[in-house]
Parts: sequence; structure tokens; C-alpha cells
Amino acid sequence: MYADVIVNLSVKSIDRPYTYRIPADLEDKVVPGTPVMVPFGNGGRVIKGFVIGVRARAALCDDRIKDIGGICEKSNEIEEKMLVLAAWMKEQFGSTMNEAIRCCVPVKDKIENKTVSTITAGCSREILEAALGEAVAKKRSARARLYEALLTKGELDRSYALKELKVTAAILRDEEEKGLIRITTIDEVRGPYRDITERDIPPQPTPGQKEIIDSITSDLRAGLRSDYLIFGETGSGKTEIYMNIISECIASGKQAIMLIPEISLTYQTVSRFIRRFGDRVSIMNSRLSKGERYDQYMRAKNGETDIMIGPRSALFAPFERLGLIVIDEEHETSYKSESSPTYHAREVALERGALEGASVIFGSATPSLESFAMAKAGRLRLFKLTGRTAGAVHPDVCLVDMREELKRKNRTMFSYTLREQIENRLARKEQIMLFLNRRGYSTSVSCRECGTVIKCPHCDVSMTLHGDGRMICHYCGYNIERPTTCPECGSRYIGTFGAGTQKIEEELRKVWPQARILRLDSDSVRRKGSMDETLKAFERGEADILLGTQMIVKGHDFPGVTLVGILLADLSLYSPDIRAGERTFELIAQASGRAGRGAKKGMVVIQTYDPENYAIISAARRDYEGFFEEEMAYRIAMGYPPAGVMLAVSVSSEDEKALEESTGRLADVVRGLYEDKSRFRVIGPAKASLYKIKDVFHMVIYVKSYDGKGLRALGDELRDKAKAVVLEGVRVEYSFNV
Ligand code: ADP
Ligand code: ZN
Ligand code: ZN
Repeated sequence: MYADVIVNLSVKSIDRPYTYRIPADLEDKVVPGTPVMVPFGNGGRVIKGFVIGVRARAALCDDRIKDIGGICEKSNEIEEKMLVLAAWMKEQFGSTMNEAIRCCVPVKDKIENKTVSTITAGCSREILEAALGEAVAKKRSARARLYEALLTKGELDRSYALKELKVTAAILRDEEEKGLIRITTIDEVRGPYRDITERDIPPQPTPGQKEIIDSITSDLRAGLRSDYLIFGETGSGKTEIYMNIISECIASGKQAIMLIPEISLTYQTVSRFIRRFGDRVSIMNSRLSKGERYDQYMRAKNGETDIMIGPRSALFAPFERLGLIVIDEEHETSYKSESSPTYHAREVALERGALEGASVIFGSATPSLESFAMAKAGRLRLFKLTGRTAGAVHPDVCLVDMREELKRKNRTMFSYTLREQIENRLARKEQIMLFLNRRGYSTSVSCRECGTVIKCPHCDVSMTLHGDGRMICHYCGYNIERPTTCPECGSRYIGTFGAGTQKIEEELRKVWPQARILRLDSDSVRRKGSMDETLKAFERGEADILLGTQMIVKGHDFPGVTLVGILLADLSLYSPDIRAGERTFELIAQASGRAGRGAKKGMVVIQTYDPENYAIISAARRDYEGFFEEEMAYRIAMGYPPAGVMLAVSVSSEDEKALEESTGRLADVVRGLYEDKSRFRVIGPAKASLYKIKDVFHMVIYVKSYDGKGLRALGDELRDKAKAVVLEGVRVEYSFNV
């Protein structure tokens, strides 16, 4: 047996690990992540390295391969733990080891440290003045400018000397060697939240909060590692619970990771943690510069902080005394990585927690099917938190059947009920939020008379309309001509929904010219910071109506809003996604949560062509568990996650022909890999829902099974055999449970 060993964590060494032979007596002990002693270089100096892979054959000829000298004592080194996690991720999500390592450990030469260099005089004033005189005489003007600036200012930034004084780096080096100047370089201490100094006083927990805090902290105190799900609506006080438990965790000398979806990582949220925990908090987000990220990473690694807050990447914080991982809003799609390894933060958190003895808490108002199923199976301990802390009451919910509107000759996007309510709020000077769900928008075909959506008969997901007029299922590739009449009722009112937010804004202005309207969608927020500006303006009451896409339903609190209108609740149902029902429930629940956050009772109007749909009905009733039962039954029947496991084989190329050919061959390989047809099902190949992106074409093959282990083994075999059948210039990626 042979081991691939890296001797330091840099990009180069990951790409080119060294091969060593594993002595027979160590064979059982050497696994990915194991720290080993190996002879290195010509002198045979023995140094420490990490095993990143184990295999039966070596590429080199045998006599050139050296033996592993021995296994190092298990240390508490964070690199070692992260490599073990990387090895697990490789298996679990079907990536390569390199990709997994890059994700878990920010390797060395990818990061540059931001520094500040200062220039001061390296000699007495007299010598410097003399040097200035000489430079002027000899017409060495750059040097003259440097000396003069130093004499008048005392010290200069190096960048100032380079950019403003136009002194070259070579001259600076030369002057430093001569001893005329001194350059000192220090790391700039960066932290965007430095200016928050005041601390808050934690409120007394409510009885509901206290029960949960007490249960979890008593586990922590007893040294019991466990995983939990806190199910409580937005505003019920979950964050306050997390903070109490984190506080307990760090008091016992451990560290905590707090994951918050990127979109909710606002100044407001983060400063809440800083006011509670001060400078023991580190923050990661995508807006940080590389240097700032590195600072946060090093602070964590050096044990200078106890709490890391951030989006999914914060999960890999190099804490050596990790005691707790919290994932707030665990259902959020941003916790899933889009690039290889296509991991889900939830799964990685549970694994890292188990590896390092840390407890894991998930929190959500609309738990993912995965989490709630785990809770039901006893894998997660479930806590329910009921009631809003602020004393606000739940809004009235009104479900409007848009098919009836059509019968009453109303072809606009506003039902009679919604119009009446809007008029009413405008007259009372209360605020309104109108929400257009854009998922699935304009790519699905449905009937406006009976609500039927064109779905794939094999996969039960919406089919997607393409430019050439054909409808395709992006799971199995089944395709049909676009129908001109409804297959259910024969109506001619069948088609896509053409209205975007811009069009609706125009319509609103026509009907209510006196209303002040703000619009938020991806077009209108492209300008940096304009989203915050719009939301703040609305909060200050500078508009009556805020119209937008899903981005307006998340996180923002507007006490003045008493009416929320969901213009087309079903659009997300039409999206070609096995999680369409889950997303619909979630979006309606969140949108409803925006109404009546203040003292006045709110109202939600949900417009739909499919009022019998269980996702819409249960969302309107705030009945998560009812929804869960129905949705889970569907997943079980179809073999979709979390009932079954799905492997997505994504194939891409700039060469459409080579792509089609390779994908076809791959599908044949998959089908040839197993005898027992009842255990695995191959779906496709099909064009991906985004077939052409930047001149690269994408196709996909799905394999589903109730046997997760078997499917992972099949994935490994496929990866081995794929190389032989895939044509040049074609890329293949594997991911589980897309
Ligand atoms: P969630 O995370 O579930 O959305 P939060 O913890 O953010 O809920 O709580 C919602 C609001 O209620 C916040 O403004 C918070 O400061 C306040 N709050 C939470 N718990 C308490 C409490 N025990 N006493 C007073 N106010 C509280
Ligand atoms: Zn119809
Ligand atoms: Zn299909």
C-alpha cells in the first residue's frame, strides 16, 4: 500500500503530493489526515507530513519510493483535524481530495497579508540635510523629494513615497541599505466592527427560551455532545437562545461557530453579537478583502477569538477547542455549495461536530425536510419555540383563487380582494409590501383557467419551455411540443407568465397614481448599496408600497406594514426542481411573517391558480407539520432526498457534439455498473436547466437509490471508469443530493 503525503499546506504541494510506501505494520493506521514522519530530499532529513490519500498502486517505479518512517503522536493540530474532515467530504460529496482540502484549509500562497510600511530617517537630521543638498546639486530629484518630505514630515507611508513622490522601489531599497532611511513593516490590524464598544445587557429569557437554554447548556456542562433542531418562527427569540448557549460554551473554555446566511449577515445582525461578546468575535463574509479574511482566519487559529460568525465558509474556522456549531435558518439554499465539493453546511457541521466533540444546533422557522426528518427519527433533538416575543399577533390570511378572477373578466395581476385591501391601506396611510415570486417565472407553462402546470409524467416536476418551442424535463430529458391547449380542461388560456416587477410597477402607477412606490429586484439593486438605501427609505415611511422579488421577504422588519400581497404564490411551484414545494411553503411563510410586525394586526393576501395545493394551503394555515407529512410522502414515492439519495453527474463542454457523445457513453457505463435494476435508477441524460452558460454547454445524468452507501460506491466506480469514455475537452463533476 502507498500513501500520498504532503509536507506543507500550500497550493503546489496539494497538487503534487509525494508517494511513500506504507510499512505493513502501519497499514491499518494510515488514513487520510494521519500525520506521519517521512524522509525528505536527498539528505533523507526526516520531517512531518500529512497523508491525503491511500492507494494500492504507485505511479513511480518501486525502488525509488521511500518508506513512511512512522506515525506522529496524535496532536491537537487543527490541520490534522481539517484534513480528516476533507477526506470525509471527498467521500461524501464525490469531489477530489484537492478540492476538499482547498475548501477546508485555506492553503498558503492563496492569501496575501495586507501590511503597512512606514519610512523614517535612519540617520541624524544633519546628515539628511547634507544628503538633500547633495541630491539637489547632482539633480537627483527623486531622492531630493524623499529627503525633503522626510525632513518636513518626520515619517512617510511607503505607498505615499511611491505614488505621490514618485520615488521608485529600487531607490528606497538603495537608501535603506545606505542607512539613510529606515522602513518598518507592520500588519495592519483590520476589523470592520472596531468602533462598537458598548455592551448590551442580556434580556431575561422568556420561559420558552429558558427551557431550551437550560436543556442544551446542561448537556454541555455534563460533557454530552448532542445535535439539536430549534423550530421557531422568525422573531420568536432563537438568536437570543443561541447567544445564551454560546456564552455558556465560551465560559467553559470552548469555541463556537455561528453560521448565518450571507443575505442576513447585515451590520445589524453582526453588531448584535459584537455588543454581546466584544472582540472575542471574528467575522467572515464575502465583502471582506482577502487580507481581512486572512486576518480573521489567523486570529481564530491563534486562539485570539472564541466565536466565528459567517456564511457557510465559516464552518471551516480553525478552532482547536470547538464546542458548538450553530446554523441559523438552516433551510437556506445558500448553505449548499454550488462548486465541487458540493457540500451542504448542515451535513459538514454534523460531521465536524462528531469528529471534534462539538454540539450542533440548527434553527429555522421552516425547517428543511432533511432536518425535520432527522428530528422525527431522533437523530436531532427537537425543540419548539412558540409565540412572538415582541407581542405582535399573527396576520389574517386570505387565499384568492385567480381562476375565479379570470371568470369575472379580471385579467390583471391584482385580484378584487387585493385591490380593495390596497385601497384601504392607502387611505389609512399604512404600508404595503407586494411580492412577486420569480422562481420558475417565464419558463413554465400553465393554464390560467384550471391551474394545471405542464409536468413531466416520469419525474413529477415542471417542464421547462425552450426557445425552440419544445418543453423539456431537466431530470430525465423527456420532451414534448409546447401544448396550445390545456391537456386537462382544453382551455386556450395556457402559457407562461410574462409579467415582471417592472410591468407590475407600471400597472400600479396607472391604478393608484397617488401612491408612492419603491421597487426592489435584481435589476434595480445592481448598483452597490442601493438595496440598503431602498429598504431604509421604506422603513422611514418614504413610500406606501414596496414591490419586489424574494429578496424583500428575508429578514427585514417593517413595523408599518399591515398588508402583504403575494401576487403569484404558485410560481415557485412551477420551477423545475424537486424542492419546488418546499421553496413555495418557505416563501409564503416568510412573506406572511412580514405583515403585522408592529402593533396593528396585519393581513396577507395570497393569489394562486392552485388553491388546492398542499404547499400553499398548509403555508396559509401556518401548518408546517401538515406540509411535512405530505411533502415527505411525495419524496418517498419518488425516491427523492431525504427519502432516497441522488447522484448528479454533471457533464460540460464547449463542444456540443463531444458533450452529447460523452454523456451518452457515461449513461451506458452507469447502466452497466449494476446488475440489480431495482436498487438504482438512472434518469436521463438530459440538458441541464441552464443548458448554455458563457458558451459552455451542460448536461446531466441523475442516479437515484434508497441505498446511499451503494450509490456512493457506484459513484466511485463510475469516476474510475469515466476517464476511458469521456472525450477531450469534456468536464465531469459528481455531486450527491443536489
Ligand atoms: P429570532 O432569531 O427567532 O428571529 P430574536 O432572538 O432575534 O428572534 O428575537 C426577536 C426580537 O425579540 C429581538 O429584537 C430580540 O432582541 C427580542 N428578544 C428576544 N428574546 C427576548 C427576551 N427574552 N426578552 C426581551 N426581548 C427579547
Ligand atoms: Zn386547464
Ligand atoms: Zn422527467
